[in-house]
Amino acid sequence: MQRRYTLQEVQDWRQAAIDAGWAKSPIYDGEDIERAMYLRKGGEDGWLAHTIARPGEDGLPDMTSLAVYAPLGEPMARGMLVKLGVLVPVPFCEAKLEENTKRCQQCGVADETVGYSPYAGRTCRQHRSAWPLDNS
Ligand SMILES: [Zn+2]
Repeated sequence: MQRRYTLQEVQDWRQAAIDAGWAKSPIYDGEDIERAMYLRKGGEDGWLAHTIARPGEDGLPDMTSLAVYAPLGEPMARGMLVKLGVLVPVPFCEAKLEENTKRCQQCGVADETVGYSPYAGRTCRQHRSAWPLDNS
């Protein structure tokens, strides 16, 4: 359910997150933070947003992305704690982010089959089964 975002959507999302207390930092040395920005809440183990808002140049389209990872502490997999992506509510909404930690990233369903797969990420059983090595 990943979709394209407009520059304005990404910029508005970031501002709302900053207003809600998320801390910004640059992603890449040498690239303006307004073009590539991390946002964190809850420290290194907390929420993490990876945001890109690069205006198009020379007739090329804008490049945007908005990915959010939930705090560390997802189900254990092979002895590791993992941070998994969540569906991103647009506009920004912390309550919906929290709610989306229970939803399949592929289809948005929130039922008892939603879990973690090392291959498919945060998915319902149906979407996990698309991965031949993982039928848990
Ligand atoms: Zn699903």
